[in-house]
Amino acid sequence: MARQPSTSSITGIIFCVTTTTGWADHALACLREAGYRSGGARRTVVEHLDGQDCCLSAQETHDQIVGRGTKVGIASVYRVLDLLAAQGLLTRVDLGDGVARYESARPGGRHHHHLVCGDCGKVEAFEDDSLERELSCVADRLGYAMDAHDVVLRGACDDCRTVDRKSTSSTTRG
Ligand SMILES: [Zn+2]
Ligand SMILES: [Zn+2]
Repeated sequence: MARQPSTSSITGIIFCVTTTTGWADHALACLREAGYRSGGARRTVVEHLDGQDCCLSAQETHDQIVGRGTKVGIASVYRVLDLLAAQGLLTRVDLGDGVARYESARPGGRHHHHLVCGDCGKVEAFEDDSLERELSCVADRLGYAMDAHDVVLRGACDDCRTVDRKSTSSTTRG
């Protein structure tokens, strides 16, 4: 498929690098250096992930790309995600439900954690500087050299909580 998405004009040098435009160029350059061609499904998947704030599964990545009108096979998406993860360009996010999700590993990118809704399955990102400081303090106190950490909050998202409240309360006031 030679067809490019309509936003394919980003081929020049970008001086004003934001974290969102930087990663795709970086990832495609790394693939080329490692001897992989950076066209076709690889470019499609990389450019799609570049627009994400948080993690996606292979199925979600595939469905969203196809939903935008670009043809890509699910097997290709799996292969590209595996390759990018093996190259250290994606972080694998394990939220304990057996589904592998991936998000771009951005040099200097914002570090975040996840909220997982047990009702609808929605995954959201959150950041909290005081939590980060507290985790560092805990590691220090335990004499632990912390390389990384994961924090997952589980429960019901705002939408599902609202539905719950409506269905359990018979005296909802307007
Ligand atoms: Zn995330
Ligand atoms: Zn929910």
